[in-house]
Amino acid sequence: MQTIKENIEKIEKQKAEYAAKAGRDGSDILLVGVTKTRSVDEINEGIDAGLTDIGENKVQEIMDKYDFVKPVRWHMIGHLQTNKVKYIIDKVSMIHSVDSYKLAEEINKRAAQHNMNMDILIQVNSAQEESKFGISTDETEELIRRILENCTHIRLRGLMCIAPYADNPEDIRVYFAEVKKLYDQYAKIEHERLDFQYLSMGMSHDFEAAILEGSNLIRVGTAIFGERDYSKKQ
Ligand SMILES: *Cc1c(COP(=O)(O)O)cnc(C)c1O
Repeated sequence: MQTIKENIEKIEKQKAEYAAKAGRDGSDILLVGVTKTRSVDEINEGIDAGLTDIGENKVQEIMDKYDFVKPVRWHMIGHLQTNKVKYIIDKVSMIHSVDSYKLAEEINKRAAQHNMNMDILIQVNSAQEESKFGISTDETEELIRRILENCTHIRLRGLMCIAPYADNPEDIRVYFAEVKKLYDQYAKIEHERLDFQYLSMGMSHDFEAAILEGSNLIRVGTAIFGERDYSKKQ
């Protein structure tokens, strides 16, 4: 078994290699270590090995671990219920999973209460999968416009997507490419609260395809920490 440190080093190398293939620099791609189900010790080991950013998909896990994890930037990457925004608003540096105006409104309200601005990504679902979260591509622009118009405590920083699972990641490149096209399009919108910098796509099994199609933020869990065991008490 490889250590967390060795895994991170390997991913950093792969990241640089795939970025080079796409004519880019590996340092322009942010690695977010996905720490769901992981213990505080494992997470701190990852931070010691160089992780600057971690991602969690459940509010409860962020709250349980927050006080015990070393200084790091936290990302909320999972589906977020409006009634839980208040618990994480002052803990995370970015929310990747905004897919409705109702959620944006709540984030805006809580951010205002804390006298802060929140960075968000819009989660798009270009594969139109019933079971997955995310807004459909034809509704994305309207959501962006509404947020810019009304949510003065939100900064729009980019897009996020979760690709459908494919045995051959080559098969989902078209899907990543579609999200990249939207990203480039919306990045041109001129507004003081829109500053696109993050295209969050790619996980352990598909981050090569995502980087080749323009991702600059990858969310990697299993390849760093090993397989998750959901049966274990966290
Ligand atoms: C779990 C998760 C990941 C990481 O998945 P791995 O396959 O373990 O790399 C990335 N993004 C989201 C939204 C997740 O929930």
